[in-house]
Amino acid sequence: MNAPLTISKPLDIAAIRQEFPVLNREVKGWPLIYLDNAATSQKPRQVLDALMHYYTNYNANIHRGIHTLAEEATAAFELTRDEVQSFIGAPSREEIIFTRGTTESINLVAYSWGRANIRAGDEIVISTMEHHSNIVPWQILCEEKNAVLKIIPINRNGELLMDEYEKLLGPKTRLVSIVHVSNALGTVNPVKQITALAHALGAVVLVDGAQSAVHLDIDVQDLDCDFFAFSAHKLYGPTGVGVLYGKKQLLEAMPPFLGGGEMIREVSFKKTTFNDLPYKFEAGTPNIGDVIAFRSAIRFMNTTGKEEIRRHEQDLLEYAQSELVKIPGLQIIGKAKEKVSVISFIIDKAHPQDIGILLDNRGIAVRTGHHCAQPLMERFSIPGTARVSFAVYNTRDEIDELVKGLQRVVKILS
Ligand code: PLP
Repeated sequence: MNAPLTISKPLDIAAIRQEFPVLNREVKGWPLIYLDNAATSQKPRQVLDALMHYYTNYNANIHRGIHTLAEEATAAFELTRDEVQSFIGAPSREEIIFTRGTTESINLVAYSWGRANIRAGDEIVISTMEHHSNIVPWQILCEEKNAVLKIIPINRNGELLMDEYEKLLGPKTRLVSIVHVSNALGTVNPVKQITALAHALGAVVLVDGAQSAVHLDIDVQDLDCDFFAFSAHKLYGPTGVGVLYGKKQLLEAMPPFLGGGEMIREVSFKKTTFNDLPYKFEAGTPNIGDVIAFRSAIRFMNTTGKEEIRRHEQDLLEYAQSELVKIPGLQIIGKAKEKVSVISFIIDKAHPQDIGILLDNRGIAVRTGHHCAQPLMERFSIPGTARVSFAVYNTRDEIDELVKGLQRVVKILS
């Protein structure tokens, strides 16, 4: 039987833009055009309101208090855990751990799981297109344990060489830690396939979902990854909140990462016992207000419709790519077949930083530099790129302004 036909209305982008107060501001006398969403997205009013509501009405520390404010704050905090659980399709709420961001989530795995499981001679596999936060923790671990870091190469289009990946896997592979969507290229990696190949050899898989969670539908059970890490601030949510999903069996066997309040069951000078999941990994007072407000960000995405958002962003991506290549001397870095929401480019004779400054003079915010992916830049023999990245509130008109801005850059710099 054919799948039922789903007809979805195009999004009312003008109405959505009204939800983001910052989009009304000007920069240097020009209306703001915000194209740095891969670094952090802007926040809708619901998120700002949730933060204000928390601090205005029920600011209290959570889990420990029996007074009304503490109970309200605890309940709201835990509701976000439920929302995240269903957002990524995790089997249970105990598998959702709040951290400060993707970086801390990956470090948690490196320090806790890594130090308990990696031995001399073991191998950890990552790829050429990793963000520094999915390189450095493993380098530190490998150095400490005398383990070996192996790197999956990529082709000129910015796609993983899957044959090479398979060749890297072996009996010593303990962990594969792979980015789902590259922040510098936009490439979507086949993480389900990567996971299955790693599992066939008994290796554990961590997926860095910092860029994917906002653009793709995430189902951690379908991916079957062992860990999945992402940051709220790239999903229309507040800064300072991250998520680590981990399979229960693994999390239960892992030693604590940080010690302190909240993560214990009982403390004595003779012996301390640890709390159940997920609290074992949530030492100290968490970022309560921002975790609570993160729920509003997820609800914003769900009510807008993730599929509709994806379609809109894909339209922007294709439109922008087709317009940008018309600019003389412009070269797109990263031409993967599977790609979302990011365009990195260089222009002959123009330093990326100069491109960024000249665009900012017209109110257009783009990112320039190595994007915390220096080994990737080395692979392309370039110091950096200029990068535009899209969110639901961006428009084709904004891309037209970007193109005009870049035409001016070319005129000035060549
Ligand atoms: N991984 C990727 C692919 C990213 O794009 C980023 C941030 O840009 C990170 C990890 C680190 O995220 P955070 O700085 O929120 O910890």
